[in-house]
Amino acid sequence: GSAASWREKLFKVLVIGDLGVGKSSVILRYVNKRFVEKYKASIGVDFALKTIEWDPQTVVRLQFWDIAGQERFRKMSRVYYKGAMGVLVVFDGTKRSTLEAASEWKRDLDGKVRLDGGRPLPSVLLANKCDLKGRDRGDASWLNTFCEENSFSGCFETSAKDNINIDEAVDFLVTQMMLRD
Ligand code: GDP
Repeated sequence: GSAASWREKLFKVLVIGDLGVGKSSVILRYVNKRFVEKYKASIGVDFALKTIEWDPQTVVRLQFWDIAGQERFRKMSRVYYKGAMGVLVVFDGTKRSTLEAASEWKRDLDGKVRLDGGRPLPSVLLANKCDLKGRDRGDASWLNTFCEENSFSGCFETSAKDNINIDEAVDFLVTQMMLRD
């Protein structure tokens, strides 16, 4: 197309969820294609930028915000949520308490930030560390149910370690953000 039809989109993406579920690892995997076994929460990503060529007319810049170190209260300030266009809510697929936390995070989010017009932000639930569940991951239909009940746009079983479904999950979120934008 002509130069006039070329566009650039900047999306602020929040990455939330309990401590240790793999938020920093997911960002690091997606942005730098790396995984560090003993990546420490205290040296969290904080902020990471990734530019993708979404289609021939569109460059998408994703700005990931990691809440590293502020997970204790399962809520964030409105200031932090401000301007966000999409959210990854991460839990540890091997740790039940972090799943319950995911719905608390989602509720806090929807109570504090909405798109223009009042619709909730696109949000994707990541059941991370699926590599730890072995080859037979069993029936994941409960995850879809949980996802619907908590009004997530979608959900994925992911592994930042083995690079499973990370790109797919982010692509899905970007698609949702493009639709709403
Ligand atoms: P955060 O506190 O949510 O940012 O979590 P981190 O990214 O710091 O990860 C916490 C721990 O889980 C680290 O030791 C990571 O190496 C590990 N981890 C993160 N993602 C995965 C994964 O997909 N599989 C496995 N096996 N370990 C992971």
